[in-house]
Amino acid sequence: MGADKNTRPVLILLGPPGAGKGTQARRLEERFGLVQLSTGDLLRAAVAAGTEAGRAAKAVMEAGGLVSDQIVLDILADRLAEPDVAGGVILDGFPRTTVQAEALDEMLAAHGERVTGAISMEVDDAAMVERIAGRFTCGACGEGYHDSFKPTAVEGVCDACGGTEMKRRADDKAETVAARLEAYHAQTAPLIGYYEGKGLLDRVDAMGDIDAVTEALVVLVERLREPA
Ligand code: ADP
Ligand code: ADP
Ligand code: ZN
Repeated sequence: MGADKNTRPVLILLGPPGAGKGTQARRLEERFGLVQLSTGDLLRAAVAAGTEAGRAAKAVMEAGGLVSDQIVLDILADRLAEPDVAGGVILDGFPRTTVQAEALDEMLAAHGERVTGAISMEVDDAAMVERIAGRFTCGACGEGYHDSFKPTAVEGVCDACGGTEMKRRADDKAETVAARLEAYHAQTAPLIGYYEGKGLLDRVDAMGDIDAVTEALVVLVERLREPA
């Protein structure tokens, strides 16, 4: 992806909570041999492990706010340096603030790398609320589902791995969604302009069904892979 042959692709999926970033990142991972890197997943793992960062992040996440840039940047920098992501990454849920976007640019530049492209997944606020309300995932393999839009074939059993322990996120409740939406509009939406200004932005209509959105994304990612 991108013209530079010797740097790994760094693709950003931008979009509000519930836009389908995680769902689509998993599909693009398989298709393009990239690794999904979700700061939400990394933070939830830190909370579960009870690390210092996790303890600091827990209450903020439960309230639907954004975790401090420093905590998120430390976690992301560590993850980006691991060998399994050397072939390229899809950033899901990062960056979420201008400070994070600028820090990412610096972090990559220090290794002669850069952002390959950012794709804004555009959905109405109402759709986002509906998607979050019905979201659950398989505790064993992480496959994502939705009560109405992507139910399991057999109730309570994961299609992907047969796991039977389904999880719902503590922050996917009505009280928190408004705060998350507000954080998105105030702090994350400006990144659309940030990447647009650098000529790195594409937009995808994320209101269609899951397969339709995947198709649109695949076209864009294929294009990014072609030398400029
Ligand atoms: P994000 O990572 O952007 O927060 P997810 O990928 O977790 O969003 O998707 C949120 C919920 O909406 C999940 O339950 C998922 O199954 C469902 N979903 C994702 N994309 C679509 C879509 N295009 N149409 C309907 N439901 C979707
Ligand atoms: P969603 O896509 O549904 O918003 P995520 O899993 O991306 O969910 O994020 C869950 C929570 O984790 C966010 O509400 C926020 O508190 C925290 N978080 C995740 N990524 C970041 C980030 N890049 N910067 C700050 N906080 C983050
Ligand atoms: Zn599973």
